[in-house]
Amino acid sequence: MSTISRKICLFGDFGVGKTSLIRQFVESNFSDEYLSTVGVKLSRKLVGVPQKDLLDGQDLQLIIWDIEGSNKFKAVAQNYFQGSKGAVIVGDVTQPETLNHIQEHIQTFLAVNPKSYIVVALNKSDMIAAEYLENIRKMYNFTTQNNILDTYITSAKTGNNVDEIFHTLANRLI
Ligand code: GDP
Ligand code: MG
Repeated sequence: MSTISRKICLFGDFGVGKTSLIRQFVESNFSDEYLSTVGVKLSRKLVGVPQKDLLDGQDLQLIIWDIEGSNKFKAVAQNYFQGSKGAVIVGDVTQPETLNHIQEHIQTFLAVNPKSYIVVALNKSDMIAAEYLENIRKMYNFTTQNNILDTYITSAKTGNNVDEIFHTLANRLI
């Protein structure tokens, strides 16, 4: 069976849980240890899509690029974005400054790929009480902007909304 491949990028500040979200999605696994990502790492996963007729019966393979997001490497990161049809921009609900950087990360990605789609993940929801999460969701909702498909509260630890972010993106890539 042949497959059709689409590149997506995960991007955001250091330590927000990019590598952990990919690991939970691809391997259904979580670790409390910090797994330092040097530069970029690629993972692959086949995903089911509702509009399978559009793919001529082929499977969709996501090629997921895990990209270090510090400002120092911004120019390098932009090279990694080339050819990407979608991105997950990640912030950490326990570190407000990482949420304040999301808008800039969106701009950085769209500067390279103006026609691509973005899903925002407000990660580590398992560490915050539900009533605060509701406020965070209101303050950091990017969904009204062009190119932004949705904003999700996620947890790489519990798996909350992890499949949803990748499937929402995958459904728009074909
Ligand atoms: P990255 O630098 O964005 O790739 O971040 P990592 O995926 O390496 O995660 C940084 C740290 O946060 C690690 O210690 C992870 O175990 C932890 N972490 C990541 N996601 C979550 C989450 O959803 N909940 C909790 N409690 N910890 C998380
Ligand atoms: Mg990482």
